[in-house]
Amino acid sequence: MRSESTSESSTNIPLCVPNISGREVELVNQCLDSGWVSSSGPPVADFERTFAAAVGAPHAVATSSGTAALHIALLLACVGPGDEVVMPSLTFVAPANAVRYVGAYPVFVDVDPSHWQMDPTEVQTFLSHDCRAEGGRLVNRHTGRTVRAILPVDILGHPVDLDSLAAIARDHDLTLIEDATESLGAEHRGRRLGSISAMTAFSFNGNKLITTGSGGMLALTDPEAADRALYLTTQAKDDPQEFVHNEVGYNYRLSSVQAVIGLAQLERLDAFITRKREIAAAYQSALSGVSGASWQMEADWVRSSWWLSTVRLTPPIGRDRRAIADLLAASGIQTRPLWQPLHLGRAHADSYHRPCPVSVDLNRSCISLPSSTHLSADEQSRVIDALTDAVLRT
Ligand SMILES: *Cc1c(COP(=O)(O)O)cnc(C)c1O
Repeated sequence: MRSESTSESSTNIPLCVPNISGREVELVNQCLDSGWVSSSGPPVADFERTFAAAVGAPHAVATSSGTAALHIALLLACVGPGDEVVMPSLTFVAPANAVRYVGAYPVFVDVDPSHWQMDPTEVQTFLSHDCRAEGGRLVNRHTGRTVRAILPVDILGHPVDLDSLAAIARDHDLTLIEDATESLGAEHRGRRLGSISAMTAFSFNGNKLITTGSGGMLALTDPEAADRALYLTTQAKDDPQEFVHNEVGYNYRLSSVQAVIGLAQLERLDAFITRKREIAAAYQSALSGVSGASWQMEADWVRSSWWLSTVRLTPPIGRDRRAIADLLAASGIQTRPLWQPLHLGRAHADSYHRPCPVSVDLNRSCISLPSSTHLSADEQSRVIDALTDAVLRT
């Protein structure tokens, strides 16, 4: 279904595809000519420095994916077998999987109905009602596992309430790891994500805010954590010459070819965010008269990246969102549902969860609309007309 090229057809409108310019091609050619194609050589370090400056992070370590960045963050936080990590139920599965990679288990809590982000009140309720203090640790009384970390996810590009979550983490001596894979360039109280939390993970997968094909970045405030992240992502080599390894490491580095694509993409990050915000605003104003269509609200203390504009369809709109998505697909318009709440999926069925009615409701009622940065005004009008039409036919 997914088409990487927009020239290929003027009839199909994809959900979200990369916006690649001549600059990527130019830098890739230079990179190939230089011979530095692997992870060693200047481009990866250059990308890390440029990325860190772009988000205001003291340090940044490139990884082969956003999932790898999350895995490394959990290792840095010393989250281990039998521990628990509190995260939202409504998110892409990657952060929950990363928690399992270190032998720990997610604990799923609900999101708030306005911004659709992990609800700090729910986190607090879990920690105070479902956990007990035991020998300086916080133990989940239902599972007997020790809670170690909080892993909020800025879903769809809207930052979570980091002030409240950071305060809760501090009060309970938990590490906070932020999954900002959908919110690169977004701001929380005037600061870009990556400059706030001690550990923030980003992704450069094909449909994210910027892409390197596949790739990720871990932004860090602590220089020693940055050194250790670099060490773990490069097979944990302990001697510059000899192949001596004191720990099990990972092959999680980005290649130079990917890094230069990232450098070219970063030059346009601000323009991409501006476009994403224009696209969201245009959908919302054009569909404001459709009763039953609503949107994720943008908190007044954030500037969302509006990664994917997502509409919520509730009564009087009668059909379920699948029927609407099918009608749009019949007009060549690609949409996608929100993720099945993770507490309902089989992959993480042995995890503890709080009641998550908002996540379940949003999964049932939302579809994400085409949000590529090079979506033309004509294409967006087609989406708006097709959606209005589909809604009227219910
Ligand atoms: C995309 C995404 C990831 C993982 O990124 P990859 O680079 O694909 O590994 C993690 N968390 C969330 C919420 C995502 O949307």
